Amino acid sequence: MNELILVRYGDLILKGRNKRYFISTANDRVREKLSGLPVELDFHHDRFYVVLNKAAKAEVIERLRHIPGLYSFSLVTKMAIDYSEIAKRAVYLIGEETSGKKITFKVETKRADKTIKETSTEISQIIAKMILRNLDNLEVDVHNPELTLYLDFRRDGCYMYLNQIMGLGGFPIPVSGKVVTLLSGGIDSPVAAFLAMKKGMETELVHFESTPLTPLEAVQKTIDIAKVLAQYAPLDTIKLHLVPFAQIHQEIIANVPEPYLITIMRRMMIRIASGIMNRIGASAIVTGDSIGQVASQTLESLIAIGEVTDALILRPLSNLDKLDIIRLSREIGTMDISIRAFNDCCSVYVPKNPVIRPQAKIAAKYESKFEFDSMIVKALKESVALDVKAGDSLNLANGGLTVREALE
Ligand code: ATP
Ligand code: MG
Repeated sequence: MNELILVRYGDLILKGRNKRYFISTANDRVREKLSGLPVELDFHHDRFYVVLNKAAKAEVIERLRHIPGLYSFSLVTKMAIDYSEIAKRAVYLIGEETSGKKITFKVETKRADKTIKETSTEISQIIAKMILRNLDNLEVDVHNPELTLYLDFRRDGCYMYLNQIMGLGGFPIPVSGKVVTLLSGGIDSPVAAFLAMKKGMETELVHFESTPLTPLEAVQKTIDIAKVLAQYAPLDTIKLHLVPFAQIHQEIIANVPEPYLITIMRRMMIRIASGIMNRIGASAIVTGDSIGQVASQTLESLIAIGEVTDALILRPLSNLDKLDIIRLSREIGTMDISIRAFNDCCSVYVPKNPVIRPQAKIAAKYESKFEFDSMIVKALKESVALDVKAGDSLNLANGGLTVREALE
């Protein structure tokens, strides 16, 4: 008898070469994620097994649950083909799972090994009978059971499991390509970055920081968020670009009427993000915008902001409700960091009357009042890129007033 975890891949509707690329990429992510554990991996064409050896089940499953592209897991016991031994083990597993609670169940058998003389249905009946003799809280329901015992008879033995634990689903990184995600310290953008990763996109994070106008703690928040997001990324590492935004920020405040402050700040961010996107060879910009959430997220606003770039802008949260976003943020593990109260650039001077339907033409007119091109070049040049690892201890606090001072 041996304990294994059966892992099924995510969205496997892909065909041919794409499917092979999907699987080999997922397998690479799995090898990385489980490295350091005493497990063995047994890959098959549409699933794989993790042979646990001495590794803790919970630890292995926890790690697998952070890999985009894996659909579900089952704890499997591999046994010799001996019906009474199989039934005995099943009684133990079901007893543990149900602890005496009344429940309907069925046995579902697959028989790849055709040398066994009973049919699948006959095997299910034989085993079910043996189980029922030992557990009186079970009642058979073959159509709609609450619990199913799966038996998979293969040449090398019987693989037995009870239920599925869900994984993230989606695609393994980086089968969908590379993007940059605009990361503020808020609730939304970390969720947007996560959803991009879940869809198989490699993402680098870009944060516009306005130190010394804003506290270093606001930047620390994004570093801490990046540490959480890194758990879902290849090699547990994610790149965070910190772009100095204070100068542009001040120029905007000095030159732009209040209703257009946010529109123009966003336009500057998108311009700089496009520069970073091109520099790192990414194909799109991801933001945490959600339609209607605030004035800068009306369709008209998003159009006026997006107008400054040819880049594809993805907004994975655009149609979600705030409550759904919050739920996701809790599941991912970024919520507690996001709600720490430190201002980033956009919450320092929140305009009282932001324009609801900004126009790109008017925004451009205000922008022409200051020399922003050279400031964008400078911000791009002076931005720093950190490789943030899950579990890193990187801490900027008390390191000075600006990011530059803190990192020196
Ligand atoms: P979030 O919770 O992500 O901050 P929000 O609802 O507060 O979102 P806004 O503040 O209007 O929305 O920002 C919209 C999007 O613009 C953010 O989701 C993020 O992608 C980007 N953004 C805003 N501020 C910054 C910043 N300082 N650095 C990087 N990106 C930013
Ligand atoms: Mg915000």
